[in-house]
Amino acid sequence: MSALQEKARELLASAAVQVVIGYGRGSGGAARAVFIREATKAGDLVFDGTCLQNLAVYLMKPEVRKLGKAALVVRPATLRTILQLAAENQIAENSLLALVPSAEEIVLLATFAAIEAHVAALDSDLSTAEKAELQRFTALGLDERRRFWEEQFSRCLKCYACRAACPLCYCTRCTVECNQPQWIPVPAHDLGNLEWNVMRAMHLAGRCVNCGDCSRACPVGIPLYLLNQKLVSDVFTGFNSRSGISARSDNALSTFKPNDPEDFIR
Ligand code: SF4
Ligand code: SF4
Repeated sequence: MSALQEKARELLASAAVQVVIGYGRGSGGAARAVFIREATKAGDLVFDGTCLQNLAVYLMKPEVRKLGKAALVVRPATLRTILQLAAENQIAENSLLALVPSAEEIVLLATFAAIEAHVAALDSDLSTAEKAELQRFTALGLDERRRFWEEQFSRCLKCYACRAACPLCYCTRCTVECNQPQWIPVPAHDLGNLEWNVMRAMHLAGRCVNCGDCSRACPVGIPLYLLNQKLVSDVFTGFNSRSGISARSDNALSTFKPNDPEDFIR
């Protein structure tokens, strides 16, 4: 039994948690989310380079919440998501444990303070490859960038897989489902697609933790990560703010100060 499986078995057997949310093998050997509720099933857990999904998306599902206290197998972006959800008052202290798999041991983080300390020790910046791609994209002129996104979004199917994959897209009723008034057209056509994707990007600005799951979920391969990384970078440059580093931080685009020099905001 691996260290991860043993830790999960121990937590379930002692009733420290009621469910372990981790990765298992799905059809064809692909990694998929599993919800282990019995200590005897802990052997189903796996963790390797194919386990990419941000499992924090399940923390917002009512059917998962009602299972009880959860231990969540985490990657760095999952930890940042937990902190961001806590900062948005979506999850409570003591409602979960984070299990960080490493080659030597399983690190168990039981408090938001412990998660903050762990995240602070990680490199929260973009990788060298991500920075290079972002620089290439940012170097394009405004017209080129607009043409690039118009072409990309023209392929959008309005399937909303990006929304379903995103742990921070948790509204119970999304603007695209409102029809009185109909803010965003239902069919997949150029104008509606642009509106949908720009609206989603704006709602995630200052909140996105750059986990990449929306891009991986997109069936037509729209590089949503590029848009998200640009906004992560712009929010940091403009507001000196990074999402997912504190359980108590304010969001750059949803807070204001009464003494803000701009009149329009008051
Ligand atoms: S990268 Fe995509 S899925 Fe992940 S938090 Fe940002 S918008 Fe959501
Ligand atoms: S996953 Fe891709 S195709 Fe589906 S709505 Fe999102 S951007 Fe459009």
